[in-house]
Amino acid sequence: MVHVVVLGAGLGGVPMAFEAREQLGAAHRVTVISNTEKFQFTPSNPWVAVNWRKPEEIQIPLEPVFTRKGIDLVAVAAARVHPAENRVELVDGESIPYDYLVIATGPELAFDEVPGLGPAGHTHSICTTAHATETAVAWEAFCRDPGPLVVGTVQGVSCFGPAYEFAMIADYELRRRKIRDRVPMTFVTSEPYIGHLGLGGVGDTKGLLESELRNRHIRWITNAKTTGIDPDRLHVTEVDDEGKDKKSHEVPFKFAMMMPSFRGIKAVMDLEGLVNPRGFVTVDRKQRNAKYPNIFAIGVCIAIPPPEPTPVPTGVPKTGFMIESMATATARNIRSLVDGKAPAMEASWNAICLADFGDNGVAFVALPQIPPRNVNWAGEGRWARLAKVAFEKYFLRKIRNGRSVPLYEQMALRIAGFNKLRPDAAEAAIKKTMP
Ligand SMILES: Cc1cc2nc3c(=O)[nH]c(=O)nc-3n(C[C@H](O)[C@H](O)[C@H](O)COP(=O)(O)OP(=O)(O)OC[C@H]3O[C@@H](n4cnc5c(N)ncnc54)[C@H](O)[C@@H]3O)c2cc1C
Repeated sequence: MVHVVVLGAGLGGVPMAFEAREQLGAAHRVTVISNTEKFQFTPSNPWVAVNWRKPEEIQIPLEPVFTRKGIDLVAVAAARVHPAENRVELVDGESIPYDYLVIATGPELAFDEVPGLGPAGHTHSICTTAHATETAVAWEAFCRDPGPLVVGTVQGVSCFGPAYEFAMIADYELRRRKIRDRVPMTFVTSEPYIGHLGLGGVGDTKGLLESELRNRHIRWITNAKTTGIDPDRLHVTEVDDEGKDKKSHEVPFKFAMMMPSFRGIKAVMDLEGLVNPRGFVTVDRKQRNAKYPNIFAIGVCIAIPPPEPTPVPTGVPKTGFMIESMATATARNIRSLVDGKAPAMEASWNAICLADFGDNGVAFVALPQIPPRNVNWAGEGRWARLAKVAFEKYFLRKIRNGRSVPLYEQMALRIAGFNKLRPDAAEAAIKKTMP
């Protein structure tokens, strides 16, 4: 019997545990270590922040689902991974031994890298459902007494979509409340141009998102380094294409939501050979670490180099579909190792993203995520916002039912040409699941 331990129970960790269970069968053990007892659907956090969703609507208690699936849950945070000893030390002093470890912890939020950034400083956050819940309280107070609004991303950010999404739904909600005329809005971003998204753009995201901002009277500053944040203003240095300081801005606000940069969690930080200097786990295309081949990693916690250098540092986003593709490949690779075979499955790392903009939405498809791409497309319309709502309901149902990838989803994605595994591997895997 082998023991597979999944560290983290988020968008990557929970499907990972389901897929490991499906791949390994009852003869083997699957355990999830989580610092929370509930799954949270992070993509819905922007809706929580403007009170379009209650936190409990996007959270699912893990214990009943895992019990049904025969997965053990250890709801205690990990303090340290000991890769040479094949064990994870918990904050209560206990240790969980493993044969295979899958790290799926998402990021640590690096608010401390900019003075005044984050909930302990002067800006709000939507990165976790708890943050979004606090932000919702502040949002209501702001709507009672509105003023300038700033949304954006600081240097080093890799997750741009939620900033655009929050800016657009804030604009929509303010218009709905008929107070938009009292709210000058500024979008401050570390991207070299609007719509870069850490991906060098996808299709015409530059034109599309610039036009959205213009139509909504949202000013923007690109190539922006946020040097500090006071209670009522953002200090920003705009740089030129060479990264040299070009202009200083003081951007006043009464409400600000700025995305922080990410780094790896403390439990893995500085583990030589396992993580890079920012604490992201280094893996190959089979999601496997080179120094510790029984450790895999999936999701935001892995190291992926940016597609191109930018004047202000930016990172590459890791999006939901891509993360699930990593889980699918990892589960199959662990199965191969258990069977004494070499792991062969590679995640496709395709990015398919949906963003709600209130009265409409945007979708983009980057296949693969890093250019040059086979598919490089962005589009907008009301259908995209409806698709995002449908995706939320569908994903939450999938988690509640303990399914990772139902057959019809695999078939639909395959028909659309969006494979989770690289084509050759996907072909073989899908054939196996077909009746
Ligand atoms: C606000 C926001 C909106 C987003 N919207 C979208 C979207 O619309 N579409 C899209 O494709 N992508 C979106 N993303 C990007 C990405 O899909 C999400 O960030 C996704 O949640 C990442 O999945 P993950 O499993 O890597 O990390 P997470 O979902 O964050 O899961 C990590 C889990 O590990 C746990 N953990 C952390 N440290 C420990 C520890 N020491 N011990 C035990 N457990 C620990 C965490 O509590 C968490 O439960 C969004 C990201 C953000 C921040």
